[in-house]
Amino acid sequence: MADQDARLWAQMLTHLRTHHPAICRQWFEDIVPLGLASGILRLKVTPTLHRVYLRKDCTEQFVDAARAVTGRLVSVRFVGDVDEPEEDYARGTAAPQTPQSAPSLPSFGEVAINPDNNFENFVIGPGNRLAHAAAQGVGEKPGSEMNPLFIYGGVGLGKTHLLQATCLRLLERYPGAVLCYISCEEFMTRYFASVQEGQLIAFRQKFREMDILVIDDIHFLAKRERSQEEFFHTFNTLYQASKQIILSSDAAPEVIPHLEQRLISRFKQGMVAEVEPPDFETRVAIIRGKAGLRGMKLPEDVIFHIATCIDTNIRELEGAITTLQFTARVEGRPPDIEMARSCIGDPAPSGPGSTLNIQVVISAVTEFYGVKLTDLQSKKRPQSVSMPRQVCMYLLRNNTRYSLEEIGGHFGGRDHTTVMHAIKAVEKRRKADPEFNEQVKQLQGQLVKPKQ
Ligand code: ADP
Ligand code: MG
Repeated sequence: MADQDARLWAQMLTHLRTHHPAICRQWFEDIVPLGLASGILRLKVTPTLHRVYLRKDCTEQFVDAARAVTGRLVSVRFVGDVDEPEEDYARGTAAPQTPQSAPSLPSFGEVAINPDNNFENFVIGPGNRLAHAAAQGVGEKPGSEMNPLFIYGGVGLGKTHLLQATCLRLLERYPGAVLCYISCEEFMTRYFASVQEGQLIAFRQKFREMDILVIDDIHFLAKRERSQEEFFHTFNTLYQASKQIILSSDAAPEVIPHLEQRLISRFKQGMVAEVEPPDFETRVAIIRGKAGLRGMKLPEDVIFHIATCIDTNIRELEGAITTLQFTARVEGRPPDIEMARSCIGDPAPSGPGSTLNIQVVISAVTEFYGVKLTDLQSKKRPQSVSMPRQVCMYLLRNNTRYSLEEIGGHFGGRDHTTVMHAIKAVEKRRKADPEFNEQVKQLQGQLVKPKQ
């Protein structure tokens, strides 16, 4: 029987990795099949967060795998060390201690926290350093000066990841705390439902009894006046009791349209931190990390290729990894640069109209440092030439869509690792040497982008 279970599970795992690679995690290996009875396959998953992730995001795919492998109508149940009551199924991990004071209201914290969204998996770069430090600070010591913590920035730049990482840290440090992680839309839905059901008092009581309230995408609040009003009072109650509030938004408080002035000033009274698009290095590290989470090993040139093609939204980086993972399985061979090119395409062509012309960058650098292009392209290594050369490579990387190979090619046939090294060297020196940093900023300012 046990053997049979193990075989069934192994086949399911293969099916999942082939047909649903995006949800697969390395820790799936730790799942223990407990057997198939009455059409239900029970799988034991010990860490609570993993269980929550599976129930919330993977049930459909697991059922598909179980049905494909057995050829029968099988459903799947994820169980912990001790079987929990059914009712716990829909509930997230975020509010284990919340008393059920008003049974007609759904339990809180239903937006499950993805266990992958922890601080360990978050790559720090120049665009998110401040937001990360603030989130970590709050994770260690909530309710102090960084209250509220307000993180804002564009789509797919890690706001939700940071909020959830903070929640995970807080749950670890303060297991008894009553924490609620909720999307703003969910908050509003709950609010209007409670109004309709005559449960407003219970709603208020629940939210105002939180130790930590985390609301993702708070800009949605601006749509409705009454929910702004409600949130304003919840905010004040929690704030006055030194309870931590953490918010994310797609824009800075003062530029969220239709947001009341009094809320704007509340949002700004703690810590406001922006997340900006990742630079090349950060993208490389993120791709490496995401591939690692899925147990995938990607060659360096493939990683560089992805990081070159996709330079804004991190969610799209993940999409590219998923496509590659899927193609590799279907074709039955490891991903390589050809596969990456055919799946993801090539970087958008450079030149006027799309991004800066290479010539604009080179002219700015040669003029600024008083060097000649032929020097930059030569094999000469004195600091007076090598430093401008590195800066030039760095600026080309950040302002054009040329690949590392192409940039290397332009500088006397240097290879992509040399270009990588140059970029790293410039980034390092920018941090250590304020005067140098100022020079690079000035140069960057001189590069006027032609209209897109
Ligand atoms: P947002 O909420 O800003 O739209 P998310 O937090 O959902 O973006 O991030 C999108 C994806 O990118 C998630 O899978 C997240 O884990 C990943 N991600 C974003 N920033 C980072 C980072 N710095 N390190 C690792 N992964 C990141
Ligand atoms: Mg988000």
